[in-house]
Amino acid sequence: MAKKGRRKHIPQRTCVVCRRTFPKRELNRIVRGPEGDVHVDPTGKAPGRGAYLCNDLACWEKAATGSFLDRALKTSLTPAQRAALQAELERRKALLAQTSDNG
Ligand SMILES: [Zn+2]
Repeated sequence: MAKKGRRKHIPQRTCVVCRRTFPKRELNRIVRGPEGDVHVDPTGKAPGRGAYLCNDLACWEKAATGSFLDRALKTSLTPAQRAALQAELERRKALLAQTSDNG
């Protein structure tokens, strides 16, 4: 018999690209720091304005090339910041390729 457990509150956030909602810890936080630097924030605690991306690589691709993050972070991403996102995308692609080798 399925027992209804007590509902825990899990904070939900929306991916700025696909607009799907996920538990916050499953998303990747991109932050625009006080100095205007835009970077991936693995801790989720960096100061500044945050935007969230899901783990779908298509979303990373669009975030790096499109204006989703510009809108979400109310800034204009520099070519260097876009390049950093592309680099992170490539790193994730490589990681996925590695894990699928083992399966
Ligand atoms: Zn997404």
